[in-house]
Amino acid sequence: MTTAALIVAAGRGSRAGKADGLPKQYARIGRKPLLSRAITAFTAHPEVDVVAVVIHPDDALHYRAATEGTTGPLLAPVNGGQTRQESVRLGLEALASSPPDKVLIHDAARPFVDGDVIGRVIKALGEHAGAIAALPVTDTLKRAGASGTIAGTVERAGLWGAQTPQGFRFEAILDAHRRAAREGRSDFTDDASIAEWAGLDVALVEGSSRNMKVTHAEDFAMAERLLISDSGLLEPRVGTGFDVHRFGPGDHVWLGGVRIAHSAGLVGHSDADVALHALTDALLGAIGDGDIGAHFPPSDPKWKGAASHVFVEDAAARVAARGGRIANVDVTLLCEAPRIGPHRDAMREAIAGMLAIDVSRVGVKATTTEGLGFTGRGEGIAAMASATVLLPIAAG
Ligand code: MG
Repeated sequence: MTTAALIVAAGRGSRAGKADGLPKQYARIGRKPLLSRAITAFTAHPEVDVVAVVIHPDDALHYRAATEGTTGPLLAPVNGGQTRQESVRLGLEALASSPPDKVLIHDAARPFVDGDVIGRVIKALGEHAGAIAALPVTDTLKRAGASGTIAGTVERAGLWGAQTPQGFRFEAILDAHRRAAREGRSDFTDDASIAEWAGLDVALVEGSSRNMKVTHAEDFAMAERLLISDSGLLEPRVGTGFDVHRFGPGDHVWLGGVRIAHSAGLVGHSDADVALHALTDALLGAIGDGDIGAHFPPSDPKWKGAASHVFVEDAAARVAARGGRIANVDVTLLCEAPRIGPHRDAMREAIAGMLAIDVSRVGVKATTTEGLGFTGRGEGIAAMASATVLLPIAAG
């Protein structure tokens, strides 16, 4: 007995409210695209023999990126059609050249399907032509009438909300889909409806509340929270940074992303923003990812005169790539001049913008060194920074 999984990922819904513009099945939750999570649930299941994914023809590159490094029995992707129903049928036709006994059809938008749910659907297929994951409806159901008022209450006893996977004996569901296509029926919203229409008996098996469908922007936020609770607590990581630049000829300095008129400039390969350099190192230190010199070597002419927000933004992206969040950053400038106080809030705003965090999470402070040392003699400016980053413990 062989069991195939067919994951439907051919839809065009894009991730509402996000600028990445990716179709939602390729948007990331944590560090992995939705689709990768769905695929792994099936390739890792001991009772699933092969997995095939139906994709939109425009998404071949996204698909390749999402499945890079996937281990397990993943077949070549199948191009989908105009509707979900057509996409499923094309996926089934692709499997038909080497037909499995059973097929589990699953929506890529449900990335948190787990092995228990998959196992229950497969088990029920021993006794039924079809079996779907579903949950009893718990909300009281209202039918809307005119202008958003309630026209009636729907008896909820015996009502279930359908999820996926929806499993079927392969030949039976392929035949039902072919018949539906031949008869011009294109109004089915899930595969169980087609099976019912074709007269197959379809069992309801217990789904899971975690097996949510990620559709709207707020679903992504909820999915992220689910992941965080999966990985246990976030753990705080603290990093520190320190940097010095000497004064040279000039009429301004860059500090904390703000241009400040001054009787000297700071000497450096980039714009010599000593505060942002210390901050970059603090962020990199918090995630144990080298230092600014390792990522942006001063020997590389590319960084000559560079605006230092580039370095800060790169470090923030490295934090994000590990599923981390920046809890706060704090920068201290050590100099006799220029005076920092009048520019403090502008620096905080600039840094908050680079890190995409609230300005209340950014501290900027300054001190003199009482005339002592190189800062006291006005030879240069030093900066110290610290950063607190919250990383999922699963990030290692
Ligand atoms: Mg520097």
